[in-house]
Amino acid sequence: MQYDVLIFVHTNQENNLLTLRRFTMKVDGKNESIQCSIRNCTYHAQAENYCTLDTIKVGTHEANPTKKECTDCESFVNKA
Ligand code: SF4
Repeated sequence: MQYDVLIFVHTNQENNLLTLRRFTMKVDGKNESIQCSIRNCTYHAQAENYCTLDTIKVGTHEANPTKKECTDCESFVNKA
């Protein structure tokens, strides 16, 4: 189960514009928006294949990434 919180943020008083932002809350400590199978990461949920962080950073170790093997989770921390 996943819970979403919808928050209206008033961003422009002159035009009365509203921006709708969607926040995903963690369920049982896992972030169901980030699936991950890297169990030897400190932030892995262990019981299920999800990350426990609110957000992660994805980067690359290549100068010109062309396939998924070129990408890295830069939030990874080895679980000692
Ligand atoms: S930080 Fe990255 S590697 Fe670690 S559990 Fe989260 S998504 Fe997986």
